[in-house]
Amino acid sequence: MAYIEPAPIKDKENPLESMMERFNIAAEKLGLSEEVYNVLKNPAKQVIVSLPITMDNGKIQVFEGIRVIHSNILGPAKGGIRFAPDVHIDEVRALAAWMTWKCAVVDIPYGGGKGGVRCNPREMSKGEIERLVRAYTMAMIDVFGPDKDIPAPDMGTGPREMAWLMDEYSKAKGMTVSSVVTGKPLVLGGSLGRTEATGRGVMVTALAAMQKLKINPFQATCAVQGFGNVGSWAARLLEERGLKIVAISDHTGAFYNENGINILEAIAYRDGNNNNLEGFAGGEKMLDAGDLLTLEVDVLVPAAVEDVITIHNVNDIKAKLIVEGANGPTSAKADAIINEKGIMAVPDILANAGGVTVSYFEWVQNRLGYKWTADRVNRRSDRIMKDSFEMVYQASQKYDVPMRIAAYIVAIDKVAKTYTFRGGF
Ligand code: NAD
Repeated sequence: MAYIEPAPIKDKENPLESMMERFNIAAEKLGLSEEVYNVLKNPAKQVIVSLPITMDNGKIQVFEGIRVIHSNILGPAKGGIRFAPDVHIDEVRALAAWMTWKCAVVDIPYGGGKGGVRCNPREMSKGEIERLVRAYTMAMIDVFGPDKDIPAPDMGTGPREMAWLMDEYSKAKGMTVSSVVTGKPLVLGGSLGRTEATGRGVMVTALAAMQKLKINPFQATCAVQGFGNVGSWAARLLEERGLKIVAISDHTGAFYNENGINILEAIAYRDGNNNNLEGFAGGEKMLDAGDLLTLEVDVLVPAAVEDVITIHNVNDIKAKLIVEGANGPTSAKADAIINEKGIMAVPDILANAGGVTVSYFEWVQNRLGYKWTADRVNRRSDRIMKDSFEMVYQASQKYDVPMRIAAYIVAIDKVAKTYTFRGGF
């Protein structure tokens, strides 16, 4: 088979550059030393492997597998594994760095990592995917480890793949090592509360921000883009706390109801409709799904994909508060206009960190050999999310910067101080 060059990222801001733009502003505000700056702008480890797999037709196909550890100064690296046709080293590097900042913002003892395999899981059989997961695990056997690098699911992977990864790693080590990976099925040591954790963190940080902005949840309206795990849980939990969710969307379209969409009905509809909202009758279908982002609402939750708030639509945004459920929904170039308009944006590295927080709890429980109740998981993650929000808010006041830069400041400061104490270079 002909070698195919990784696809360049077209029509998108380069995610690494987008991240570095924010990093640079925060580093300057902090007065970060040049030495530490140079350490942090480069990933600690980058591994690229070739994975030859026997396909169901008997032919061997070679896949590219990537794992990047951006930093492991705060603890073992943590980050998901993405199976997608357009996986690119730049994207994986950016996502690995994002994980460093995210873990540091919520103060959990992890560094940042990310992995990817360039493949199209939708076109592969279960057996082919299993062989690929096992080959990737073996290729990374010296990279992964409960005290070194702990993967998790990301786009295109889920509990099933994590179970195979845990099994393959355990076989190689000659013992069951549950804590090498998180996002496992419950029966294999997954944590209660993990499924809703990211949406729950979005809800907690949204309410904390609304308190600062003096927005009464019982009089507030909200639009949520994306109705998968994060979007539907965020919508459901925000609705439970009094907000009127006037619009929701997924890749099939957006739905608007000025009286509020019944989120439990929408979830039930999606679950019985091949996991999408097409044909949902609980709201009027919007002519252009992108218009959801520019609705006159108090709170906007982008919880689908990256780069949806850009210089092309940011001027039309009317929400007072944006809470980023997705990773990278706002392009760096749109930041300045959001700030000029006085919109508070709770950034991804804070707003969606509830997921990694409960992944951390999964790892803690695996190491303890003990299972916590859902109530304990939720209480502890809510506390972490609330405290982290407050810390970022205080930094935004102290440095007179928007919440996004404040989150980077909190994170970079923590990582930089750790480097300074540990020394060694
Ligand atoms: P998911 O696959 O469960 O859901 C994605 C949703 O977005 C689906 O409803 C899909 O139809 C919709 N969507 C896709 N393209 C869209 C578009 N152009 N317009 C509107 N909707 C669109 O994924 P998820 O786990 O909910 O993740 C969503 C985002 O949150 C991603 O950016 C992910 O990286 C981020 N995130 C997820 C977690 C987690 O724990 N799941 C944690 C942190 C960050």
